[in-house]
Amino acid sequence: MSVIAPLRYHSTRSPTPSVPISRAIAAGLAPDGGLYVPEFLPRIDAEAFDANGTLADTAATLLAPFFAGDPLADELPEICVEAFTFDAPLRELRAHPGSSMLELFHGPTSAFKDFGARFLAACLQRLPRENSQTLTILVATSGDTGAAVAAAFHRQPGIHVVILYPDGKVSPRQAHQLGCFGDNIHALRVTGRFDDCQRMVKTALNDTTLPARVPLSSANSISLGRLLPQMSYYAHAALGWWREHDTPLNFIVPTGNLGNAMACLWAKGMGLPIGELQLACNANATLPDYFAGDRYAPREAIATLANAMDVGAPSNFERLRWTFPDEAQLRALLDARSVDDATIRLIIESHARDHGEVLCPHTATAMHVLDELRREGNDMPWVVVATAHPAKFESVVEPLIGHAVDVPDALANMLQRPASAEPLAASADALRQWLLEHAAG
Ligand SMILES: *Cc1c(COP(=O)(O)O)cnc(C)c1O
Repeated sequence: MSVIAPLRYHSTRSPTPSVPISRAIAAGLAPDGGLYVPEFLPRIDAEAFDANGTLADTAATLLAPFFAGDPLADELPEICVEAFTFDAPLRELRAHPGSSMLELFHGPTSAFKDFGARFLAACLQRLPRENSQTLTILVATSGDTGAAVAAAFHRQPGIHVVILYPDGKVSPRQAHQLGCFGDNIHALRVTGRFDDCQRMVKTALNDTTLPARVPLSSANSISLGRLLPQMSYYAHAALGWWREHDTPLNFIVPTGNLGNAMACLWAKGMGLPIGELQLACNANATLPDYFAGDRYAPREAIATLANAMDVGAPSNFERLRWTFPDEAQLRALLDARSVDDATIRLIIESHARDHGEVLCPHTATAMHVLDELRREGNDMPWVVVATAHPAKFESVVEPLIGHAVDVPDALANMLQRPASAEPLAASADALRQWLLEHAAG
């Protein structure tokens, strides 16, 4: 009998202490403020996957080495079935025959974050709690994370979700989605920016006196419980392509905190047939500047039409640097381009008019990068990663395309429910006070 040594996880800031995957998932952030990473990236053969398998099957095979030896290992296939209840279809682009769009918006809240949020929820549900107190999950969101996490945890016993979002800086439909759940989901509209929300959550998670009264966990994209499952759709798409064409697949990923792109890089690092990766950013140019050769310079975020990518200090950058300690190698591996709001508008308008393809503002940044690559003579098979359904951003999209966007059923149902959110000042102290008043056991 072969015994697989369990893979352990440690902080990006120190190789010790190391913990099993379920500890890393339960904690979210490492105790020293770093991000959890595996001791090493396991390798996997394309032949290990069932060629006729579903996305959930691909996920279970892909993630098995990460869970080996852990209490969650036996339940992994079931967790994947529970999380991956919708597909991630690869559809050929009319604008660019030979290239495709990976549609990641068929989940309950119409954005790719449903994959990670549902997987995290399925894991946390199965982990034993240290005590019988309710676990409070804190989420800072610039729009889509909060809704995905709320949908994934709604009415789950023993769990409260507290969502912080920047008041007035998410789309009306995003705001509605965040406030429409009720029950164990609390939406707080913060008078500040997304970066303020993120800082408030980080401070609460690092507060050593809070956990005794309010057991906390996070669900931001720093959580391995969200990052790891996101590798699955890259693996599934690339394997399908590779079986048919015998070539690797290349991805253009709309990027904010680098969670989705990090998952693609890890899937590539495991040996899957993934070729090049291009990052598409909005006017927040921290990554484009870095990959153009500048020093890494995190900054304040500015508001754009692609608001889920309004990030000036990408939280997964630390993971990226850990994965590629050789900076020259990292800079050679990746390219990032910045796309301003005027161009986003132009892309949405022209692709709808010329090709009948309606894009959300985030997906439009990636489409612009593909348009540019083609103009530059690049004829590789690219995949534009579509991170959200355009109906979520109707106030941007509809005036540009001149007609209404069909609303997916799940989104339509949410929009019919009443919604409300509580105001909160943009300070760590205000959040601490709120938690003690509302969530203490
Ligand atoms: C969150 C989000 C992004 C950015 O993803 P990261 O993992 O933060 O890079 C892009 N598009 C949409 C629609 C999103 O919700």
